[in-house]
Amino acid sequence: MRSTVESVGAAEQEAPVDRTCYRCDRDVATEYYFRLSATPRSATRDRFRPVTRTCCPDCVAALGLLEFDERWLDAIDRR
Ligand SMILES: [Zn+2]
Repeated sequence: MRSTVESVGAAEQEAPVDRTCYRCDRDVATEYYFRLSATPRSATRDRFRPVTRTCCPDCVAALGLLEFDERWLDAIDRR
């Protein structure tokens, strides 16, 4: 797992990351985009390949992969 992350990071350093969200086609500011990765386990590796895509925060939330940080929620409650 660690070597996978490192190899993706190395690949991103060589080529600029496309900041366009793969779901909604919006250009996402560098500090806001997410990089989503899916790596098939051995039982499905013959059918699927690993994929990494750029995604905006709204689409990440729509996929159910975004949770608010507890500290941020606490700060909102104190207002
Ligand atoms: Zn999007």
